Amino acid sequence: MGGRDDGDVYTERLMRHGAPKADFPERGTEARVAYQLVHDELMLDGVSRMNLATFCTTWTEPEVHRLMDESIGKNMIDKDEYPQTAELERRCVRMLADLWHAPDPGGTMGTSTTGSSEAAMLGGLAAKFAWRRRREAEGGATDRPNLVCGPVQVCWEKFARYFDVELRRVPLRGGAYVMTPDDIDRYCDENTIMVVCNFGQTFTGLFEDVSGVAAALDRFEERTGHDIRLHVDAADGGFLAPFVSPDLVWDFRLPRVRSINASGHKSGLAPLGSGWAIWREERDLPEDLIFWVDYLGGDEATFNLNFSRPGGPVVAQYYDFVRLGREGYRRIHSAKYGTARHLADRIAAMGPFEIIHGGHPERGVCAVAWRMVGDEPFTLYDLADRLRTRGWLVPAYPLPADRQDEVIQRVLVRHGFSHDMSDLFLEDLRRSIEHLRRHPPSPPLDRGEGGGFNHGARSDPPATVPTPRAAGGEPR
Ligand SMILES: *Cc1c(COP(=O)(O)O)cnc(C)c1O
Repeated sequence: MGGRDDGDVYTERLMRHGAPKADFPERGTEARVAYQLVHDELMLDGVSRMNLATFCTTWTEPEVHRLMDESIGKNMIDKDEYPQTAELERRCVRMLADLWHAPDPGGTMGTSTTGSSEAAMLGGLAAKFAWRRRREAEGGATDRPNLVCGPVQVCWEKFARYFDVELRRVPLRGGAYVMTPDDIDRYCDENTIMVVCNFGQTFTGLFEDVSGVAAALDRFEERTGHDIRLHVDAADGGFLAPFVSPDLVWDFRLPRVRSINASGHKSGLAPLGSGWAIWREERDLPEDLIFWVDYLGGDEATFNLNFSRPGGPVVAQYYDFVRLGREGYRRIHSAKYGTARHLADRIAAMGPFEIIHGGHPERGVCAVAWRMVGDEPFTLYDLADRLRTRGWLVPAYPLPADRQDEVIQRVLVRHGFSHDMSDLFLEDLRRSIEHLRRHPPSPPLDRGEGGGFNHGARSDPPATVPTPRAAGGEPR
């Protein structure tokens, strides 16, 4: 190419004519040109660290970047070719079983996954298989499995639909934000494959009463003879409570808890692509879920939905465990909870809000959730939209049934969101409220009957403001 390598990147053909968008390009281009083009387009994405909607890791140490880079060619499934990556996975499984108080951490079953969603599918499938086997032994029907839970993350809706299980979602009643132990009797029966408790509910961040639900299931078994598994979706809480609320009993200390999923890429602090499914004891993972693969060289057990997947997230997770230990996780998460409580105090003091979850480590994940109670000429959707002009992504969304007429807003405080950034955010929140008071998005008369709107309560946002999705989307 002669001297062309020194040419200005913005005078190259691709830069002068625009990027391929639909037809598969006939010719390629130089790496530096392709890089610049892709890099520039991605500037239009939001700044991930200002995305206060996500639970997922958005800041990592430079060493993690290096290990991820060094692992780029490592395939997690190829345990014979990359035995040490496989060994790091086994160590992580044992460490998590230990962290979550499995009776025999060295002998239990568990696996890394791409996230909590895959781990949830595996937890659900294990329960479904175990339930079916028990029903067959009893001579009962096996065609109507159901799963009982409160308001759950979409992965459980997927599990139910993809694997043909009825989802019995307990609606929110009265002032409750979570499923309660009282709900168990009414929703469970002989076809319930398991109950799922949210340890860190997606909508509010609140913990469900896992030990209360476990006790209700114990009573249910005494009365009916049906032994129903409890699975804890500890996507975020599984990496928080063990460090900052160690006395909270939600894990394998409860014999009723047979499996737990968690996202390593949330409060586990690993980069995206890290999740974990751990069973209480080896016998809690039905054998028919395990495949033995010998075409990669050895004879390896696999119980994942994926085949090939990157080894980097597992390597990085092991790095985090070694780097931080219990003490390091405690320090990081305590600092985050301190920031969350600072945010909650200031947001409450602004006036028009009532705090639903104020970032107390015994009550929920490191988040603050609130609803509007003041008489204001704007809604939380408007506020979310306004905050976006400064780059903050703070979702507003309706609560799940039966409280779907109420709208709430939530921020996640993650590693890398400092006290200073929280003050910058609070200042923007204050300015946004002032702006919306001075310039109400649309005349109050357009906003439905009574005073309902000022609580953010409406089913359809008016056309003049973005839909909930555009203003931050559903909680993730
Ligand atoms: C984030 C989350 C999930 C989904 O986890 P991924 O790791 O994103 O697949 C499931 N359940 C809860 C409670 C969550 O917070």
